[in-house]
Amino acid sequence: MVTEVIDGRAYAKDLQATVTDEVSQLVARGVRPGLATVLVGDDDAALVYERRLRRVAAELGCDYVGEALPGDASEADTVALVERLNAEPRVSGVLVLRPLPAHVSDTVVQRTLYPAKDVECVHPTNAGMLMMGRARYVPSTPAAAFALLDHYLAASGRDPAEFYSRSNLVVVGRSDNVGRPLMLLGLARDATVVSCDVHSYRAGHLYQHTLRADVVLVAAGVPGLVTAEHIRPGTIVVDLGINVVRDEPAGRARLVGDVDFAGVRAKAEAVTPVPGGVGPVTDLCLLRNVASAASQRLQNSSGLARMTS
Ligand code: NDP
Repeated sequence: MVTEVIDGRAYAKDLQATVTDEVSQLVARGVRPGLATVLVGDDDAALVYERRLRRVAAELGCDYVGEALPGDASEADTVALVERLNAEPRVSGVLVLRPLPAHVSDTVVQRTLYPAKDVECVHPTNAGMLMMGRARYVPSTPAAAFALLDHYLAASGRDPAEFYSRSNLVVVGRSDNVGRPLMLLGLARDATVVSCDVHSYRAGHLYQHTLRADVVLVAAGVPGLVTAEHIRPGTIVVDLGINVVRDEPAGRARLVGDVDFAGVRAKAEAVTPVPGGVGPVTDLCLLRNVASAASQRLQNSSGLARMTS
């Protein structure tokens, strides 16, 4: 059996055309979707993410507002900035870049976001709706993983709904922003979902779960955690990890995932690479949420106009 390397870049190209079309239709109706990001401090990874989002927003025809506060800005200043963006009509969606400085509470800032503009689904109201299977927005990285997986299943001749309903999905990692939403998206597709974390690993139980899986989704932040020994032939492996490692002795930095790609490739049915797998799809999923936020606002305002005319 030849292992399929699921090409995120190719899928992202198709998705980009779809989202560009959605944005153009909104612009034709008089609304240009706009994303605002809030950066507090100068974390390198957050700066790279901000630059990337600015470029992708421009490519799609969306507005972009990049707000930045110094690292010593107070929690009150951060909250005031988010409140200003909540009220700004040009902004359809707001993303607060992480990490925030230690003296600024993630929870306080997340609760300040107006839920209709919370395009990364961090406000408790939106997270609760996701939990109930009635998501307003799906967080971008888990959304990208399932978009790629759904696409792969359909392209390989399967009915994704039928496949999930008889499949075991193992999610390695249970963070609020990645692991838990992955589990919820698996449940929403009627899959049997198992969650593994650092305790499963320490207890030596990771293998017994992953070896029963039809799909393994890995978001642990541990380079090469899942190896060929963790999977059986026929498993589909989705790697969400992004880790920077340095090759010795040259010290050159490169990106790797949480999966031992070469080993798993020799055994799995299919695997997503890093880079070039889930990553390229993630920004498009976020901007698609921004377009959806703009569209919801348009619908609400035309509904209001009808009621008052
Ligand atoms: P967190 O550090 O918040 O969470 C890591 C999770 O993995 C925790 O639930 C932890 O368990 C679990 N874990 C850690 N070590 C092990 C182990 N040895 N075995 C099993 N489980 C383990 O990370 P994130 O969820 O934010 O990110 C995870 C990965 O996804 C990272 O590589 C990150 O860079 C990447 N990422 C990728 C994005 C993308 O766009 N593709 C976006 C966001 C993140 P416990 O809960 O018990 O501590």
